[in-house]
Amino acid sequence: MRPLIDKKRVANGRAAGNRVAGALATLEKHLRRAMPGHCAFCLGEPAPEQSWCMPCYRELAWNRNGCCLCAEPLSRAQALCRRCRAASPAFARARVPLVYQGAVRELVQDFKFHASPRAGTLLVELFVSALDETPAEALVPVPLHPARARQRGFNQARWLAGQLGTRLGLPVIEASRRVDTPSQRPLSRGERFANLAEAFAVATPLPERVALVDDVMTTGATVNALALAARRAGAREVVVYALARTSLGAS
Ligand SMILES: [Zn+2]
Ligand SMILES: [Zn+2]
Repeated sequence: MRPLIDKKRVANGRAAGNRVAGALATLEKHLRRAMPGHCAFCLGEPAPEQSWCMPCYRELAWNRNGCCLCAEPLSRAQALCRRCRAASPAFARARVPLVYQGAVRELVQDFKFHASPRAGTLLVELFVSALDETPAEALVPVPLHPARARQRGFNQARWLAGQLGTRLGLPVIEASRRVDTPSQRPLSRGERFANLAEAFAVATPLPERVALVDDVMTTGATVNALALAARRAGAREVVVYALARTSLGAS
């Protein structure tokens, strides 16, 4: 079986494990990650009480230079990205420990598109290992669009929030997504933003400090809209917990 992180290939300077394709490879991955007592990435001996060995852990795409507010990966340590310098988001900060690339990307795809609980559990463990703050008082997963929920039948943000809630001892409070009305004409940027600002609602009154939970954070527009809804429902400090951040490469 091919390890997810191949030390030789990494040493050769090529991105780890992005060449896997086809059902056979997927099956192989499921089997590999189901093996207890081995590092999930290289199959070597894991660190005590961990699902990984330390060299593989260190080699993962950690989001070390993330923007202080939205966690967008920056090319070097800067306090804020271009967008956050222009306008602060509706959330106080985002905790997104990983960058969506290489082995992390494979793991997230395995979790998201094949609903692999082993990949999901591993991602939650990685997230918790990197969490350096006192958790919020409640978790609010990003609701899936009803059409997509029907199609796919797996709500990864809700699953993640459930797992995190169990580990951190926090309740999970659900938000709802309002039904989109398709527009008759193309929307301007401002109109799109206004539309999105009303996209979510939280029926339950929220405690003061909440964390929104999503799997992959891309532009931050969705969590920003959910943060507005959380604030309307009484939250004073809203943070975002996501596993991985895509790099927009614009800052
Ligand atoms: Zn390893
Ligand atoms: Zn930012």
